[in-house]
Amino acid sequence: MSDYDVDLFVIGGGSGGVRAARIAAQHGARVMVAEEYRVGGTCVIRGCVPKKLLVYASRFRAEFEDAAGYGWTIPQWSFDWRTLIANKDKEIARLEAAYTMTLERAGVAIVKTRAVVADAHTVQLADGKRVRAGYILVATGGAPTYGDPIPGIEHAISSNEAFHLAALPQHVVIQGGGYIALEFAGIFAGLGSQVTLVYRGENILRGFDDDVRAHVRADMEKRGIRVVTGIKIAAIERMGSRFSAVMSSGHRHTADCVMFATGRAPNIGKLGLERAGVAIAENGGIAVDEYSRTSVPSIHAIGDVTNRVNLTPVAIREGHAFADSVFGGKPTKVDHAHVPTAVFSDPEVGTVGLTEAQARARFARTDIYRAMFRPLRATLSGRDTTTLLKLVVDGMTDRVAGCHIVGEGAAEMVQVAAIAVTMGATKADFDATMALHPTTAEELVTMRTKSASYAREAAE
Ligand SMILES: Cc1cc2nc3c(=O)[nH]c(=O)nc-3n(C[C@H](O)[C@H](O)[C@H](O)COP(=O)(O)OP(=O)(O)OC[C@H]3O[C@@H](n4cnc5c(N)ncnc54)[C@H](O)[C@@H]3O)c2cc1C
Repeated sequence: MSDYDVDLFVIGGGSGGVRAARIAAQHGARVMVAEEYRVGGTCVIRGCVPKKLLVYASRFRAEFEDAAGYGWTIPQWSFDWRTLIANKDKEIARLEAAYTMTLERAGVAIVKTRAVVADAHTVQLADGKRVRAGYILVATGGAPTYGDPIPGIEHAISSNEAFHLAALPQHVVIQGGGYIALEFAGIFAGLGSQVTLVYRGENILRGFDDDVRAHVRADMEKRGIRVVTGIKIAAIERMGSRFSAVMSSGHRHTADCVMFATGRAPNIGKLGLERAGVAIAENGGIAVDEYSRTSVPSIHAIGDVTNRVNLTPVAIREGHAFADSVFGGKPTKVDHAHVPTAVFSDPEVGTVGLTEAQARARFARTDIYRAMFRPLRATLSGRDTTTLLKLVVDGMTDRVAGCHIVGEGAAEMVQVAAIAVTMGATKADFDATMALHPTTAEELVTMRTKSASYAREAAE
């Protein structure tokens, strides 16, 4: 590959690109990464990490409230948004520097600029400079979308701006029913805003297990979040420093901030992909095979830009597999089954594997085990909340095909349950596991009675 300036050019210094660049360099490749915004990408700069920090901040309110039942008197508490944002920004800057240093230590050259594909082996930088590369990896991630154009959409913010608001809004209207919408609803409500969540579908969290969807909605409402489904925002009007969100029903909601969390789209625009002959898939992302190869042999794509499973650990795994396959002499595919995922809403959701509906469509028989109870902690605090644990079992093989949890610690529990599900553990394996008492997770190994059992209906 000595005819080239570098062996690998990575476009995008996010979760997937950084991992691919580092591992390829460790395999001996000469690597260059272009990043047009900040090294670390969405997850580190304006996604998972700052989001989780805001989630932590928002949960102190419930801690203070719950403390009273346990005998604590907490004098006067108050919250300062600017302190939170400043501290969050400091931590993000530290992480950005750490990612940059990791790449540089691995011998990766970083160029802080936009880069586009000029041809199968050439990348063009914003200043016109061209770099010849043996391989090009497109890892440009995704960006928020706002759905169909509506009047006044320029007044709406996305999650990108939510991390940098000058002040905590008193009233927030959030449009969206996915995980980002729910997480920000929980963040703003916990910090003290009045929140209305608007979703055009029948219920929030489309694609999640139906019990989870119903449970989360009911619990969010108990926490004071107004959830309105079956309508959408038709226009946004400015009223001085505030906004009026005009609903498709004709109703109006006045708010200090209107946020759209209506989905994300792969960053494929103006990247030179068409010119280079890179095919786009039906899902709107770059079309790739199981080794992340595009239709052009020297160009690969990983992470959100391929719109497969848009989560950080998946982008990282795909980046690592690419580097091992192309530069490590170890062809590696990524298994996209059994990807655990969480919604850090209030209440929190953790889930892995099939939903009940998916299992019932797939298996000849599906067994459902469900536990719903008031968590021990809520007894003295008096908080009105319930925890849900649900196992979806293939009734023919006894394998646990899905695990769904709503409540405190759900994400942490599901990460561990995902090991068992990935290994193909059966319900009998779960039952044989000794309980750890008193915990919420012990319910996973003590649910003995089926809540329901369904035979698949014969196809017409
Ligand atoms: C609010 C929010 C919360 C999230 N929470 C979670 C979570 O809790 N858990 C989870 O697993 N995932 C979460 N995600 C998703 C996660 O952030 C993404 O799946 C992950 O970042 C994808 O990594 P990536 O490498 O594909 O792309 P990205 O991390 O988006 O990186 C792409 C990079 O490419 C750069 N770039 C784009 N075009 C160019 C170009 N032409 N030239 C140079 N640079 C370019 C961008 O600036 C960006 O830095 C969240 C996302 C958001 C928005």
